[in-house]
Amino acid sequence: MSMEGRTCVITGSARGIGRGIAEHLGREGANVVINYRSSEGEAHDVVETIESAGGNAVVAQADVSDRDEVTHMREICHEAFGPADVLVNNAGITADEQFTEMTREEWDRVMDVNLGGMFNSTQEFFDDIWNAEDGRLINISSVVGKQGNFGQANYAAAKSGMFGFTRTIALELAQGGSTANCVAPGFTRTDMVEGVPDKVLDRIVAGIPLERLAEVEDIAAVVRFLASEESAYVTGEVIDVNGGMDL
Ligand code: NAP
Repeated sequence: MSMEGRTCVITGSARGIGRGIAEHLGREGANVVINYRSSEGEAHDVVETIESAGGNAVVAQADVSDRDEVTHMREICHEAFGPADVLVNNAGITADEQFTEMTREEWDRVMDVNLGGMFNSTQEFFDDIWNAEDGRLINISSVVGKQGNFGQANYAAAKSGMFGFTRTIALELAQGGSTANCVAPGFTRTDMVEGVPDKVLDRIVAGIPLERLAEVEDIAAVVRFLASEESAYVTGEVIDVNGGMDL
């Protein structure tokens, strides 16, 4: 149980990739804070799954774009398990529109959650991660942050913004021994890609050397490594988990 005794906060972990990460870390013995914004029932299901595998988990409702709610999430974490060792900034949204049609509201909404949420959570948990000395900040970016994607100027800008943020926080954490890294998943089978028409998905898969979409477990396994003590000398990196999309 490589994560035994490590406290991990995962934003947006009632569904999708966040849920996969939470269940994986929970199985490996971590104490897990399951953050949700609206998926309350699913958040409790994740806690049950982790507890029935012998792990510890607690739910924390918070919209990551709201600083006061993120402060409350930290209080829940501290009360249940003490300071966090690991923060995974996973919560994210899209609001797709061809750029000429994109409204400022769609731009701001994507920035508020993907970047604003990362700012709020990282600042709230920065001292915890610093004090852990082997603390871990892990930001879930996207292949879209590297390559761009038609209709996703807002999302691509937010996801590549995570790269510069992560490198900077890596520098600001380094003296204390803690690390910050990004994971950049390719297209992953979750609700986020549910709405993509089959024809478009077929075209996407045709461009992936490994000839399939990612499953949440593909992403969770890499996050598990970065969250563990084994990754102590990896910092400021972007780890692609995309089936070879950029080869
Ligand atoms: P998803 O299935 O749509 O789930 C999104 C999660 O984010 C949900 O748990 C949701 O919580 C949470 N969330 C959204 N807004 C939030 C907010 N304001 N505060 C707190 N939580 C919030 O998405 P996913 O595919 O798992 O994506 C997870 C992350 O991976 C995102 O950052 C996404 O950009 C990134 N990613 C996804 C893919 C992909 O192909 N799926 C590829 C690359 C990167 P509630 O349900 O409680 O609202």
